[in-house]
Formats: sequence, C-alpha cells, structure tokens
Amino acid sequence: MTDLSGKHGLIVGVANKRSISWAIAQAAAAAGARLALTYPSERLEENVRELAATLDNPLVLPCDVADDRQIADLGATLDREFGGLDFLLHGAAFAPADALKNPFTETSRESFRIALDVSAYSLIGLSRAVTPLMEKRGGGSILTLTFIGSDRVFTNYNVMGVAKAALESAVRYLASDLGPKNIRVNAISAGAIKTLASAGITGISTMLQAYREKSPLRRGVDTAEVADAAIFLLGQGARGISGEVLMVDSGFHIMGGA
Ligand code: NAD
Repeated sequence: MTDLSGKHGLIVGVANKRSISWAIAQAAAAAGARLALTYPSERLEENVRELAATLDNPLVLPCDVADDRQIADLGATLDREFGGLDFLLHGAAFAPADALKNPFTETSRESFRIALDVSAYSLIGLSRAVTPLMEKRGGGSILTLTFIGSDRVFTNYNVMGVAKAALESAVRYLASDLGPKNIRVNAISAGAIKTLASAGITGISTMLQAYREKSPLRRGVDTAEVADAAIFLLGQGARGISGEVLMVDSGFHIMGGA
C-alpha cells in the first residue's frame, strides 16, 4: 500500500461523487494525505464542500482553470496554508455541448479554443503554479486524466480527442522541463466511465458497451480502479516513472477492430 501520510495534495476536478477525481481524493486521503479540493464556480461549490466535509481537515478553494488570476491565487493560498505541495491531480476537462454532437468538421474556432484551454492548457498553468511549492518539498508528482480518444476516433468525442492529444503531449514536455526539479508528470488513460463529463458525449452508452464486449477483461473500469493506479503514480512506488501515459482500461487499447 502506498503511504501518503505527511503529504499535501491538490485535487482539481471534483464535481460530484461520480467524479474520477473524487475517487482519487478519497484514496489519497485514505493513504494519509491532507488535501485541497477546488471548485470552478459557485454552482458547484456546495457539492464540493459537502464531499470535502467527509475528509480529514481539507481546504476547499475556488479555481476556474481558465482564469490565470485564480490559478495564481490558488498557488499563493496553498503556499500559505500547506507551506509546499507534494502532488497535484488534474482532472478538469470541458468542451461546449455543440462540439460533442455536431460533425467534427463543424467544430467552431471558439469551441476549439475553450476545449483546448480548459482541458489541456490548464495542466501547464497549474503545473507552473505548483512548481515552486513542490521545489520546497524537494520534488513532487503531477498526474492528469486522459482518454484513448486522443489517438483513435470515437463517435462524438470530437474536439475532446484533439484536446487529449494536446494534453498527453503536454505531459511529456512538462515531464522533460520539470524532471531536473525532481517533479514527475504522468497521465492515466482511463476506460469510459459514466460521469458528469462523459454524460455530455452523445452515445456514451455505446462506448460503455464496447468496453464490456471487446476488452480483454470483458468489462469497463470503475473510478476506484483508476484511483488505485493514481495513488501508485502519485507515490514513492512510481519514483522512477515520468512522462508516462498509463492505460487503466481493462486492456481495451490492445484490441484490434476484428
Ligand atoms: P467530471 O465531470 O466529474 O469531472 C470533470 C471536472 O472538470 C469537473 O469537476 C468540472 O468541474 C471540471 N471543470 C470543467 N471546467 C472547469 C474549469 N473551467 N475550471 C476548473 N474545473 C473545471 O467527469 P470525469 O469523467 O470524472 O472527468 C475527469 C477527467 O477524467 C477529465 O479530464 C476527463 O476527460 C477524464 N476522463 C474521463 C473518462 C470517462 O469516461 N468519464 C475517461 C477517461 C478520462
């Protein structure tokens, strides 16, 4: 079991109890970490506060990842409250609804900008903000969440696939930049799971069915399975791993079409 006691972590991406980031927050807290959770808007604040109340002494802070000011304020608050940071879990993603149902060719410049900004650039902005805090601890671990739609075409995943490709590339460039500071940067590519974000993709049930029928394990994955892998990547057991995209998808990615 990974021990995170004495560690401080930032979890970005909890919306409700189905969120992958919430499963990771629970697992990190169970491993002994003290956490800060963020909410992007007042609309989601109460949800996040209610969930956070079940953890031991968490911080709950605002952060719309599309806003540089809020990212900077978050870094300053964490520095003041935690005096440094050991890990960051980045689980924020968003694309406007029209981009997830219209033909990909119809993707507007504005939808493209928003999807890439919130889902990919935010990892760069947040990593920059937490780097000095991690340096205070002699290093750290940054983890993001991606999907195989970065590489292969899934109906209606559309611009989110492009954003995930950018995100995975950013993982490698960040890993190269931050490695000399002993900061590792990795991603987990999770199989399809029913959550608030995935419910926005028209045809998510067909995707879930494909996992049940085609994966070597003949089932999808759940958020607890992703969380177990996340705790490994965040902790000491993965100290030699950086720039990696770890597939946690019941083996779905190895299968050919026939
Ligand atoms: P979710 O809806 O619970 O999480 C998405 C989070 O992004 C929400 O908490 C939302 O508040 C946050 N977010 C959106 N815009 C934001 C902004 N401007 N600022 C800050 N936060 C913002 O859904 P999830 O499925 O748990 O998604 C978490 C991550 O996992 C996402 O990156 C998603 O793409 C990825 N992922 C999901 C699946 C799946 O099938 N559910 C599979 C692979 C990867």
